[in-house]
Amino acid sequence: MPTYEFECRDCQKRFDVIALITEHARLKEQPPACPQCGKTDTRQLASLFNCKTASASF
Ligand SMILES: [Zn+2]
Repeated sequence: MPTYEFECRDCQKRFDVIALITEHARLKEQPPACPQCGKTDTRQLASLFNCKTASASF
């Protein structure tokens, strides 16, 4: 299952989020909360799983 690395803009805490591809779209709209400070002001870092096909349109 792919993991996505996120970083908290508030405390710079980095954490991994395991999500399905279908859940990833939701993560962009609603970023996960920081496990350290609980804020949702997080951003996704460069993904470890760069898809070869960029056409994942539903
Ligand atoms: Zn934080």
